[in-house]
Amino acid sequence: MPATHIIVCPSIICADLAHLADEVARLTEAGADWLHFDCMDGHFVPPLTMGPPLVEAVRNLTDLHLDAHLMIEHPERQVADFVRAGADSINVHREALADPTAVLDQIREAGCGAGLTYNPETPADDVGRWLPQLHHVLIMSVKPGWSGQQFQPQTVGKVRQVRTLIDERGLPTHLQVDGGLNAETAPLMIAAGADAVVSGTYLFGHPQGLAAAVRALRGQD
Ligand code: ZN
Repeated sequence: MPATHIIVCPSIICADLAHLADEVARLTEAGADWLHFDCMDGHFVPPLTMGPPLVEAVRNLTDLHLDAHLMIEHPERQVADFVRAGADSINVHREALADPTAVLDQIREAGCGAGLTYNPETPADDVGRWLPQLHHVLIMSVKPGWSGQQFQPQTVGKVRQVRTLIDERGLPTHLQVDGGLNAETAPLMIAAGADAVVSGTYLFGHPQGLAAAVRALRGQD
């Protein structure tokens, strides 16, 4: 069943970082819910992007929920710094961890929401093991590493599968999607059970502006 409020999560990497305060104000005005940080280490994925200092800079500008998506190896070494920087939730990749249990506990014990992320080619069959501990599950709808990639439609079924597991247990866990989302693809993911939508290229490039993009991502236009 589609969720009532769709959480829109702008990817800060696509904002104008030279005008961070203006961008955060514009996103807030447009109705954004969580600000999403695509943090890449040059190892888990080839690009190198942002880390705790940028999260901290944004923390000083807003009370919005800050969501750190760690596309990094050894995320357990970085959790404390992201928590100190003011992240409200931290996503780690299933592919980066032989067993995510310890790092998910570490995130939760630090007072932060824990997220577990699955790449398009990684089955999410094992997510039930950690579901009760998770603030959200993130299903990637593109291969991680670059903005502006095309949506992979076979990931819709994985969203439906995880939504069923969440609902069967009556959990409040959010189900987030990231990659290639726009006015056509986001509603497909929402219909499959996603309630949190990450957007960068589409949102910041929308010809009618951010508020129109936020509405379109929620399927309201
Ligand atoms: Zn992301």
